[in-house]
Amino acid sequence: MFLEKDSHNKSKGWIEVVCGSMFSGKTEELIRRLNRARIAKLRVEIFKPGIDTRYSEEDVVSHNANALHSIPVENAQQILFYSNECDVIGIDEAQFFGNELIDVCQQLANQGIRVIIAGLDMDFMGKPFGPMPQLMAIAEDVTKVHAICMRCGSLAQYSHRTIAGDKLVVLGETESYEPLCRECYMKAMAEKAQKETNANPSL
Ligand code: ZN
Repeated sequence: MFLEKDSHNKSKGWIEVVCGSMFSGKTEELIRRLNRARIAKLRVEIFKPGIDTRYSEEDVVSHNANALHSIPVENAQQILFYSNECDVIGIDEAQFFGNELIDVCQQLANQGIRVIIAGLDMDFMGKPFGPMPQLMAIAEDVTKVHAICMRCGSLAQYSHRTIAGDKLVVLGETESYEPLCRECYMKAMAEKAQKETNANPSL
C-alpha cells in the first residue's frame, strides 16, 4: 500500500500517479489519499474532465460509490484557474485530458502543490492512453493498481472491450469491458481476429 511521504514541509510540491485498467480501484485509491489529506487539514480540490458525466455531474464517483465533490473542467488549463489556495489537487480520469495536462501538473507541483493523478494507463487496444505515459515519466511516485482477470483470476492489466467497434473507452459504458490478464487478453484478441477472418474470408 502507498504510504504518504512525510508532509512536514507543506510547501513541497510533487506528482503522484495512480494508474491501471478499468475496475482496478484507481479512483478508490485517489479518494483514499485525498481523504487522508483532508484529515490532515490540507486544502483539497478534485477535478475531472467535463466529458465524464456518468452517475453525477459534480462528484468523482468510483464503482463503490465512495463519492467526493469535484469540479468538472473542459480543459487542463482550467485546473490552474481553480487551484488557488490548494495544498493537494486530485485529477480523476486524467487519460481524457490532452497533453497540456502534463505542463499544468508541472506548474502546480512547482508551485508547491501535491498533485495526485488517477487514470487508465492503456486503452482497450492495449496502447498507452493520452497524457498518462508522460505523466508517469515526470511523477515522483507511480502506483500501478490491478483488477482481477475475469477469465482466470490472475492480476489483470488490460481493459478488454466485449463489443465491436474501434472508438476509445467511453465512460458510462463500463459494462462493455472486462479486465483481463496478459495471457487471456492475447487469447481474446486472437479469437476476435479469427472471428473477423471467418466473417470476411476475402480479407
Ligand atoms: Zn487471465
